[in-house]
Amino acid sequence: MQNGVRRLVLSLPVAASFCAGQYLLLTVGDRAFPFSIANAPGGKHLELHIKATEDSPDSALIEQFLNDHPPSVTIEFPLGQCFLSQVPSQPVIFIAAATGITQIKSLFDWLTPQPGAQKVHVYWGVVTPEDLYLDDYFKAAADHAKITYTPVVSTDHQTWAGRVGLVGEAVQQDIKNLNDHLIFVSGSPGMVYGTLDHFTATGFDPENMRSDVFDYAPRTA
Ligand SMILES: Cc1cc2nc3c(=O)[nH]c(=O)nc-3n(C[C@H](O)[C@H](O)[C@H](O)COP(=O)(O)OP(=O)(O)OC[C@H]3O[C@@H](n4cnc5c(N)ncnc54)[C@H](O)[C@@H]3O)c2cc1C
Repeated sequence: MQNGVRRLVLSLPVAASFCAGQYLLLTVGDRAFPFSIANAPGGKHLELHIKATEDSPDSALIEQFLNDHPPSVTIEFPLGQCFLSQVPSQPVIFIAAATGITQIKSLFDWLTPQPGAQKVHVYWGVVTPEDLYLDDYFKAAADHAKITYTPVVSTDHQTWAGRVGLVGEAVQQDIKNLNDHLIFVSGSPGMVYGTLDHFTATGFDPENMRSDVFDYAPRTA
């Protein structure tokens, strides 16, 4: 796709049964790795966006597996409790870091055409502008009056005229009444808890935030 992100489309014999925002486990050798499903439910396919991580033996294993173009793969799904199956009564803020946009795309694609959906804000934090591999997709969607899209690059780049800084801080600058929103955050545990802590420091109620991280990397303290 762009900047090292691969798009993998798995065809299924029957319509895939899952909720927007869920993930699957992809078997690679004797291991299984989690990947968010990027599309909304309803079709006979599952779309994955897979980015290689530098200096990661696990990522190297996955890349080698994909380079071999296996004719079929073994998956386990649907997994994850951070999903949407009903239209929320309040406006929604989607916050993604890097490939966390994969899960957000599924949630977004499902929610935005639903009758009764309130305003939807998408914030996407990346390291460099080249990481915004779905920029055109969300820009086009943001033509709609009920949708806003804000890409945020973490450090200054000569080629970048948009927002700079941490994605959670951009959300706080723009939206004062966070507690009136349902917030989904997708990214690494550090990013998710960092965002949560920034928000709660100014009176945000954690009950209004959803993330897979709360289940697979619970905070002990
Ligand atoms: C629930 C879940 C979903 C994941 N979905 C994807 C995905 O769609 N695409 C992908 O390239 N990697 C995804 N990952 C990470 C992927 O499983 C690892 O990259 C892979 O196992 C290789 O390990 P690693 O050590 O290189 O990276 P790790 O250190 O395990 O993971 C680092 C990368 O994973 C990304 N990541 C973490 N949580 C998510 C998430 N919920 N959705 C999307 N990205 C996430 C981070 O932004 C970071 O880029 C997901 C991980 C989890 C726990």
